[in-house]
Amino acid sequence: MVVIQQHEHSLTLIDLNPKYPHDEHVYDDEKDLISHQVFQRPCNRCDQKITFFHRYHYKCNQCDYLLHKSCSKLPITLEHASHPTHTLSLFQNESQQKCDVCECNILKKQLRYYCSPCTLNICLNCGKN
Ligand SMILES: [Zn+2]
Ligand SMILES: [Zn+2]
Ligand SMILES: [Zn+2]
Ligand SMILES: [Zn+2]
Repeated sequence: MVVIQQHEHSLTLIDLNPKYPHDEHVYDDEKDLISHQVFQRPCNRCDQKITFFHRYHYKCNQCDYLLHKSCSKLPITLEHASHPTHTLSLFQNESQQKCDVCECNILKKQLRYYCSPCTLNICLNCGKN
């Protein structure tokens, strides 16, 4: 299991589409405004691609480390109402797991909150509540 930790270097927010004003999303019919369409790199936290559709991402100033803006905002530890006994930690799946709250599948490589004493999983969606 891969526990997610805060990256040790400082990160800079990169805007892949600086000409497009103040929106998280870029729409298909505005392609002419998109300046970095070919950009495609994996996120170091969720392992999914970062592309210009996400518009923003964080880049490490010192090494080859990239994060989705949304992934960078995820808390590394979680206190959850359904499980007040322990604090859960953010993990990346090495195999598919099930959320113990909503019973959805958490796929391989996806992120989840995990309580190791209880082997309890909480998906990111349930973790928000
Ligand atoms: Zn990500
Ligand atoms: Zn770094
Ligand atoms: Zn869930
Ligand atoms: Zn527990």
